[in-house]
Amino acid sequence: PKYVYEFAEGNKDLKDLLGGKGANLAEMTNLGLPVPPGFTITTDACRHYLDHGQTPDGLDTEIEEKLRALEARMDKKLGDANDPLLVSVRSGARYSMPGMMETVLNIGLNDDSVHGLAAQAGDERFAWDSYRRLIQMFGKTVLDIDGDLFEDAIEEAKRAKGITNDLDLDAADFERLVQGFKDIVAEQTGRGFPGDPREQMDLAIRAVFESWNAPRAALYRRQERIPATAGTAVNVCSMVFGNMGMDSGTGVAFTRDPASGQQGVYGDYLQNAQGEDVVAGVRNTVPLGDLERIDKGSYDELMSIMEKLENHYRDLCDIEFTVERGKLWMLQTRVGKRTAAAAFRIADQLVDQGMITLSEAVTRVTGDQLAQLMFPRFDETAERHRIGRGMNASPGAAVGRAVFDSYTAIKWSRSGESVILCRRETNPDDLEGMLSAQGILTSRGGKTSHAAVVARGMGKTCVCGAEELDIDTKNRRMAAPGGDVVNEGDVVSIDGTSGEVYLGEVPVVASPVVRYFEGVTDPASSEADDLVRAVHRIMRFVDAARRLDVRANADTAEDAARARRMGAQGVGLCRTEHMFLGDRRQLVEQLILADTDKEQEEALAALLPLQRADFVSIFDSMDDLPVTVRLLDPPLHEFLPDVTELSVRVAVAEARGEKHENDLRLLQAVHKLHEQNPMLGLRGVRLGLVVPGLFTMQVRAIAQAAAERRKQGGTPRPEIMIPLVGTVQELEIIREESMRVLREVGEEYGVELDFPIGTMIELPRAALTAGQIAESAEFFSFGTNDLTQTVWGFSRDDVEASFFSAYLEKGVFGISPFETLDIEGVGRLVRIAVEEGRAARPDVKLGICGEHGGDPASVHFFHSAGLDYVSCSPFRVPVARLEAGRAAA
Ligand code: PEP
Ligand code: MG
Repeated sequence: PKYVYEFAEGNKDLKDLLGGKGANLAEMTNLGLPVPPGFTITTDACRHYLDHGQTPDGLDTEIEEKLRALEARMDKKLGDANDPLLVSVRSGARYSMPGMMETVLNIGLNDDSVHGLAAQAGDERFAWDSYRRLIQMFGKTVLDIDGDLFEDAIEEAKRAKGITNDLDLDAADFERLVQGFKDIVAEQTGRGFPGDPREQMDLAIRAVFESWNAPRAALYRRQERIPATAGTAVNVCSMVFGNMGMDSGTGVAFTRDPASGQQGVYGDYLQNAQGEDVVAGVRNTVPLGDLERIDKGSYDELMSIMEKLENHYRDLCDIEFTVERGKLWMLQTRVGKRTAAAAFRIADQLVDQGMITLSEAVTRVTGDQLAQLMFPRFDETAERHRIGRGMNASPGAAVGRAVFDSYTAIKWSRSGESVILCRRETNPDDLEGMLSAQGILTSRGGKTSHAAVVARGMGKTCVCGAEELDIDTKNRRMAAPGGDVVNEGDVVSIDGTSGEVYLGEVPVVASPVVRYFEGVTDPASSEADDLVRAVHRIMRFVDAARRLDVRANADTAEDAARARRMGAQGVGLCRTEHMFLGDRRQLVEQLILADTDKEQEEALAALLPLQRADFVSIFDSMDDLPVTVRLLDPPLHEFLPDVTELSVRVAVAEARGEKHENDLRLLQAVHKLHEQNPMLGLRGVRLGLVVPGLFTMQVRAIAQAAAERRKQGGTPRPEIMIPLVGTVQELEIIREESMRVLREVGEEYGVELDFPIGTMIELPRAALTAGQIAESAEFFSFGTNDLTQTVWGFSRDDVEASFFSAYLEKGVFGISPFETLDIEGVGRLVRIAVEEGRAARPDVKLGICGEHGGDPASVHFFHSAGLDYVSCSPFRVPVARLEAGRAAA
């Protein structure tokens, strides 16, 4: 195989082979743009090296050939004493892994060529500075020397000279530093810094290969689900210098604003500097627009290149460039990252400009981005005082009083205060405090830290790793770099979408996108901005394109109505358990405690009209659309009082000699119903089989409600769903009873009530025997919450707060299987059930109503598994619509 490609030999579609950077350098070269010549060593070569511990046969010769060609082209020799060619060696994988792997610049410098470079550039200082940079980067990345040793030496040199700015170091200082750096290398490695240019290059190439397996890179890949076997390419590129004086410089540019999506000139420029100076923030950059004044020729050329790139890639591009003594060079481009709002705006603009079609536009936006646009946000027009920024760990806008421990968070929130829990980092002890807070702010830890993971799980706004904030939990205060101090009780506002932290209250407004989805904003009116119009156009397209229906999980008429406004095509899961809470708990207690059939019947009879009224209002909200009502699912003891409270009550009554018969009976019932593993206990269909009359009462209420709605002129379309079925026999018994009730009520009201009866598939056994179950079920709805719980053996209520953050940190999985469906395991059972269910009953209706119904990646899986619909919370309905459309487009 061929292991080395000159830039001109590649193109942008060869990312697997040449990595993202290499493929795009090739593309730019072939577009005739000014790219410094060079070549790319393929990911194949990297994989070979990692597998065998040595480079593949022939690689050496190929590199030699390409290097000779490069030298001929540049009319310079690598490391030549009089006029040296210098090169950079940069990593560049298929997937962007920012800062994870290595780069070495200025290869080819040694004790001889440094003089040649000085003579050619007419700049001694520049040459010695370049040489010390080489030893420093090479020492750190290739020779694994602690970078602080070099930094300390620079600091020491500045101190000795009584200066603070790098720019005040002169040629002689750098020459001395070069000697000092060489001493460090010799001390740390036992051998001298390699002066042979080709050896420098080869060692750097190997170091880049090896950096693929550096722990931080491996961790990043696991988290981002980048295949560990992909390997990185290596780009060897002739050096151009932005640090050759004030007519030189380096910068980044975007073809549109990556924050808003607006067209214009966006980027930063730094005179007399190299790329790493910009990253390190040594000096302040100027806006890209200023380049026009500094160097009009380069500016004009850059603008025309940007236009060319955008027309070519048909998308927002980001660019790194360098100006060397008035000559512009392109160092990198790629299709750029952007915010959610920018993604929708840009997709829409590109359609308007005729650059892409609508079906391409939907590939440019994601459900996650849409979800971000739906969170409430801070009023952009309001005054605000920013005191810090961290990572945008969990979106939303939260305002509250700063508290520094969980105990205070709980106490204050109980008395009605909104609080922001501020911690250095959180741990499982903080759980209750996090729950009671409006938002969470930490100064340490990344997006997979405990705070971030748990907050996302709770849907709480969270900013994490705001390192510039000094959070002092002992003294209950936090200090910001600008001198602001936040004491306990001071109001702060945190933006989980951007990561910003503000002092004081910033007003929160509903997202304009939600106002559109709720029907408040007409997209054709002048009230709608370009973002709303973009969302509207894309939603219209995906609704026409998608094959999956989208329903909502809604338990009340209000939720159902809201879901319908958001585009839900029915209710896929109406959980009936909340209908047994509140005032009705008494009746449920009576049902559970009943000694006689009569008492039990009375309790059921009292519940019946209440349930019926619930259903009437939901059927009304969802008139003419299906409503899947699930019969009671949770273990009964959830409806009884807490055992400790009850025991205390009984003991107190006993001590006082008061009457306490009822409480005593309750306590006995609580003990009797107590289970070690309630989630695997008496719940779901098991209740229907064990508690006489419970399910039939519910079916009767559904049937009567439907009959009443019909009389009122409505078109109710209930579907009766039995939870937690493991075997067809369970279902068969409930189904027989239910059909009898439907007939009875039908006769009573003089109408025909023939509603689908189906089941949830939420136990592995149900999935594995779906063929049998389908004989008796007219529909399946996958309960992927319980299915995930039972397939993994993870307690869904406990794990996210218990060991998941450790699992995520160690990369066991990149995302919780309760959030994104585990396609290999749980998904396999779904596919089996789909196949066997359809084989037994070709028209069996197939849906999913677990949390995964609103998760983008999972929706794509459900599409490919051939389901008929997904059901999710009302707020996720637009997200599911978009992703279902993207899956089909
Ligand atoms: C499920 O298990 O996926 C489901 C939808 O039911 P619940 O979450 O109510 O157990
Ligand atoms: Mg369930």
